[in-house]
Amino acid sequence: MRLMHPSEILNRTFELLRKHHEWMKGTVNLIASENVTSVAVREALISDFQHRYAEGWPGERVYAGCKYIDQIELMSIDLAKQLFKAEHANVQPTSGVAANLAMFTALTEPGDTMMCLSIPSGGHISMGKKKLGGTAGAVHGLQVENWPFDEGRMNIDVDAAIKKVREVRPKLLLFGGSVFLFPHPVKEFAEIANEVGAHIAYDAAHVAGLIAGGQFQDPLREGADVMTCSTHKTLPGPQHGMILCKQELAERINKAVFPGVVSNHHLHCVAALNVALAEMLEFGKEYAIQIIKNARALAKELYERGFSVLCPDQGFTSSHTILIDVTKYGGGGIIEKRLEEANIIINRNLLPWDLREGRHYVNPGGIRLGVSEVTRLGMREGEMKEVADFITRVVVDGISPTRVAVEVQEFKKRFTKLHYAFDSMDEAYEYIRIRGNPPSSG
Ligand SMILES: *Cc1c(COP(=O)(O)O)cnc(C)c1O
Repeated sequence: MRLMHPSEILNRTFELLRKHHEWMKGTVNLIASENVTSVAVREALISDFQHRYAEGWPGERVYAGCKYIDQIELMSIDLAKQLFKAEHANVQPTSGVAANLAMFTALTEPGDTMMCLSIPSGGHISMGKKKLGGTAGAVHGLQVENWPFDEGRMNIDVDAAIKKVREVRPKLLLFGGSVFLFPHPVKEFAEIANEVGAHIAYDAAHVAGLIAGGQFQDPLREGADVMTCSTHKTLPGPQHGMILCKQELAERINKAVFPGVVSNHHLHCVAALNVALAEMLEFGKEYAIQIIKNARALAKELYERGFSVLCPDQGFTSSHTILIDVTKYGGGGIIEKRLEEANIIINRNLLPWDLREGRHYVNPGGIRLGVSEVTRLGMREGEMKEVADFITRVVVDGISPTRVAVEVQEFKKRFTKLHYAFDSMDEAYEYIRIRGNPPSSG
């Protein structure tokens, strides 16, 4: 790359940011792990909090200058406890991976065994074995054993799993994952966890917003001791993490987070999280209900157009996500690229049987679609039909993606406002243009 003059770098950076914003305005984003935040959340993110440190607990900081930061963090803790009906909340993990690492640290020693989903069955890389470079194995030194998985039902095989827990005697049973169509059988394991002396944890990175809205499952009531999550997937907050747990584990979790895995805990994100948690308390239920309706509608429309959407006999999904086998159209990698050219952003995804059949992550058999972002923009079941048509035209009918891109852009003009937020007329993709503001006359 040609060396740029520093001022040119500045111009170029902002030009690229503006281009990205313009592009997003005209795309249909179906990435299951993404969402858009309200302008209020984004305003909190650009506050002075982003310059500060507040190591330690509110009221017991290692730094001075924290009197307002403390009040915001205490509020955030209270909001999180209220929203998830949790005895304790820690809002300091800077991401879902950091939350998981702190949870592993609090509940296990290196060398202990953990049960969780395998990656092709929907597990996240933070749960991965050492040989995969996963956080659990490579960073914390856990032995990772995978849940026996029922590929037809796309869920944990309870009978086989109980048998395996008795054999392996793990210290940690971890539920949740990144591809997650139906609630996991948590309460079925409460007794056996007790019997073998294991803790139960639940990774709600993807489904925290659905849990907050009371529309998925309620892990902390079903027997989970700890729930970790990202705060930016179905929960429409800043990119951050959070841990909720029983009071008896509060001290261990807090210590594992700080000084264990964070020093700075991204205070602007904590402030932004307050806004997102308040939005969920106010609008979470209707938002989560609509997400699930939209996911089922999109699945049904695509299925009727010939797509092999997984689990038709179970209603396709009970979450924000649907999974489609696209091997007959050339594979997930190929379809992902073609749809991106059509302004439809989705991601390729391993299916549980892909590795066995010789496919891998570059061009796996599946694609994963999530409807959180389009729901936040006010789309409903009727629009899922239009989205299914766009996808069909590109993938099945072979119409030129660039032609469909123009139609998608046109369609998207009807959905620029953000719903389920206090300022419901906020523009979803507007670039907060502080640089362009005229100088104040004061
Ligand atoms: C996304 C995800 C994470 C990681 O969250 P980050 O906030 O990206 O660090 C952890 N677990 C699961 C199941 C996820 O899907």
